[in-house]
Amino acid sequence: MKLDVLAFAAHRDDVEITCGGTLAKLAERGHVVGACDLTQGEMGTRGTAAERAAEAEAATKILGLAARVNGDLPDAGVFNTREYQNRLVDIVRAYRPETVILPGHDQRHPDHRVTPELVFDACYFAGLAKFGKGAPHRPRKILWVHTNYTPFNPTFIVDIGAQMEKKIASIRAYASQFAPKAGDALGPPGSDVFEWVRARARTYGMMIGKTYGEGFYQREMMEVEDVARVSGQSV
Ligand SMILES: [Zn+2]
Repeated sequence: MKLDVLAFAAHRDDVEITCGGTLAKLAERGHVVGACDLTQGEMGTRGTAAERAAEAEAATKILGLAARVNGDLPDAGVFNTREYQNRLVDIVRAYRPETVILPGHDQRHPDHRVTPELVFDACYFAGLAKFGKGAPHRPRKILWVHTNYTPFNPTFIVDIGAQMEKKIASIRAYASQFAPKAGDALGPPGSDVFEWVRARARTYGMMIGKTYGEGFYQREMMEVEDVARVSGQSV
């Protein structure tokens, strides 16, 4: 299968929380979109790997993704090693995405911190003809999406106003993770996951004069062809 866009994350439910709206929007526009979770989430405090697999399948349908891939790396054991680079190179070559979405850097969970570095390196090696086996492929574009509570300077924001409820439904599909349980707080203390997901999307949306948004970063400068038609309104 050849994908237009492939989003990587450490755990099932990560892509839904970070860029679920954007993935749904891409799929609605006819792009072939996939998600790759590097681990099966077997070390999660809540839910089993099997439960999370079924939940991921339901969330995948809600977002309209064409593929849900699992890297089968150990949960709480994601390291940027040659062995794992090889595994990721195989996935990049198997799905040949033009665009790759990675989680943002600077995160407390070591799996979250290492995932963007590991996949970024694998995307490069995947383009080397003599590296490993299989036909070389290097994604044209790599984007990072805001993942954590730490500050993140996006270079562009995607309007997800029309996809926000799909995003929320895809997160809700992970009942083992996010069904309310008395006495514990997920996300920032005192808030529930849906409240902070909505709050962040609202904040990003406001920056582009829309209701909800998701913030992305790209290393390259974005070219503007027609300066008279740059989107957005000055504030
Ligand atoms: Zn995670």
